Amino acid sequence: MECEALWQTVLGELELQISKANFTTWFKQTLLISFDQGHATIGVPNVFTQKWLENKYHKEIFRSLQHATNDAVQKITYTIQTKRDVIAPSNPSSSNFSPSVHILPQATETMSVQVEVDPRSNLNPRYIFDTFIVGPSNELVTAACRAVASSPGRQYNPLFIYGGVGLGKTHLMQAVGNAILQMYPGRNVRYITTEQFSQEYLNALQNHKMAEFKSTYRDVDVLIADDVQFLAGKEKTQEEFFHLFNTLYEDNKQIILSSDRLPKMIPTLEDRLRSRFEGGMIADISKPELETRIAILREKSRQKNAAFGDEIYRFIATNVQNNVRELEGALNRVIAHCQLNNRQPTLPDVQNILATMLSSPKKKALAPRMIVEAVSQFYSIETEDITGRSRKKELVTPRQIAMYLMRCEIEASFPTIGRELGGKDHTTAMHAVSKIESEIEKNDSLREEIDLIRQKLYLPA
Ligand code: ADP
Ligand code: MG
Repeated sequence: MECEALWQTVLGELELQISKANFTTWFKQTLLISFDQGHATIGVPNVFTQKWLENKYHKEIFRSLQHATNDAVQKITYTIQTKRDVIAPSNPSSSNFSPSVHILPQATETMSVQVEVDPRSNLNPRYIFDTFIVGPSNELVTAACRAVASSPGRQYNPLFIYGGVGLGKTHLMQAVGNAILQMYPGRNVRYITTEQFSQEYLNALQNHKMAEFKSTYRDVDVLIADDVQFLAGKEKTQEEFFHLFNTLYEDNKQIILSSDRLPKMIPTLEDRLRSRFEGGMIADISKPELETRIAILREKSRQKNAAFGDEIYRFIATNVQNNVRELEGALNRVIAHCQLNNRQPTLPDVQNILATMLSSPKKKALAPRMIVEAVSQFYSIETEDITGRSRKKELVTPRQIAMYLMRCEIEASFPTIGRELGGKDHTTAMHAVSKIESEIEKNDSLREEIDLIRQKLYLPA
């Protein structure tokens, strides 16, 4: 059978097994390049499709090819080549494939799952300095990270990186780990989220494997602990982390930590751990400026084999300002749209695509309860503490913040706010809102905290 006919048979069978959307996304631009002595070579438009087919659909493809060839297939190779590449350039109009750039389908969130994390270091190889765009909002922290990468354990120990959600903390700290491994392949670098650490510790406790647990971590040369704010409220884990920290530190091993806020703002963090965290270099990462956002969009597009006009990058970057993850999300939507329509978007296209995202009626969907929950989660206190009557300062401020957020995020009336907060008087709500309004004028860290809670509120569940 000819390749083309054979492939059509295979596609016909695959189409019945896979949802229409997935089929269109992943198979539309594929072709069978050759089939030779049991070796099938399949052409795909880009590396993402390649990975996706290898990891997700290989079995189905293999089976369908077996059916179509009476079990003659032994091996399948996926390679980047499109039908466009084999169509004679003299007859471009006969091609109905994407005209200028290869565009990857679907969002990176799903794609990044496919990137292989190194099991030893737990690092994602995607996070390197080369793909991290530096601008005024992150140049100091990047310089600190590069310094640590070139002489681990010598200066800036520990390095504590803090900043809001989606601003690149994980990317940067993993870039340090990857750079160290590249320079010194023998080093034992270990990346861990604090939640993972806590989980591993509890498992070890339960399964009587503490000795093993301790020795894996005490052998580490570079410890990268992400999101240490999650140590809050976990006494046992904090204790263990404290000992680990001291052991590594005394051995001049590099420690890198990240958090969404300053050590002193992490509630129920033991003082001794707090002072350890504050003992080295603290660097913050803030929201990127417009030009940096544009540069990030360009870089992300390049990674995804897509390219757009300047006005499109500028439009996206002007309208999506909060964090880089959202920026990527917007770009992914535009890319997915191109993929579906097989053409480059115009500016009005992009305006339409993002309109739903930008004006989504999130505000109305927020229930007062969600605000109470987000605030209590942020400060690691109970929701009852917020709706209760205790006058302790560490409860009063969160309570006032919850009232403030109800006022500005869902425009709740003062009597409603009072009611939601456990039946308080509307004058209490009024007082709370104006108190917070004036506080954030003079207190940057409070404003940042409230921004963080606000961001959390709007994160997709
Ligand atoms: P955080 O850990 O601070 O929540 P991440 O490191 O997970 O944020 O970043 C979210 C996404 O944004 C990642 O895909 C990351 O690659 C990207 N990103 C953030 N900042 C930059 C930057 N300056 N340059 C390139 N990509 C960035
Ligand atoms: Mg992170």
